[in-house]
Amino acid sequence: MTIDEINKLLNEGNIVKFYNCRKWRKLSKRIQKRDNYECQKCKRRGKYSKGKNVHHIRELKVVPELAYAEDNLETLCISCHNEEHPEKLEGFKKPEPKFINDERW
Ligand SMILES: [Zn+2]
Ligand SMILES: [Zn+2]
Repeated sequence: MTIDEINKLLNEGNIVKFYNCRKWRKLSKRIQKRDNYECQKCKRRGKYSKGKNVHHIRELKVVPELAYAEDNLETLCISCHNEEHPEKLEGFKKPEPKFINDERW
């Protein structure tokens, strides 16, 4: 998926498709491996959590051109990832499927 396509998905509110694209899935696996499958935020706080999600440090919707920049990516556990995206929490009403179901195509 190209940056133009990502911009288009952002405009359409359809960015979940990005997380299902092959290139992202491959890259996110590589980042998790780089980070030893460990949550980097927990690590900075001196504790260990298994990393589940790969997060864009500078938000995808703000800087889509960094979508695939490895320096802009880090592995997080689900709770840290939710902390990074408070706008998605909506009072814990329902779990955010796109951050939990990483294995879905
Ligand atoms: Zn964490
Ligand atoms: Zn994120």
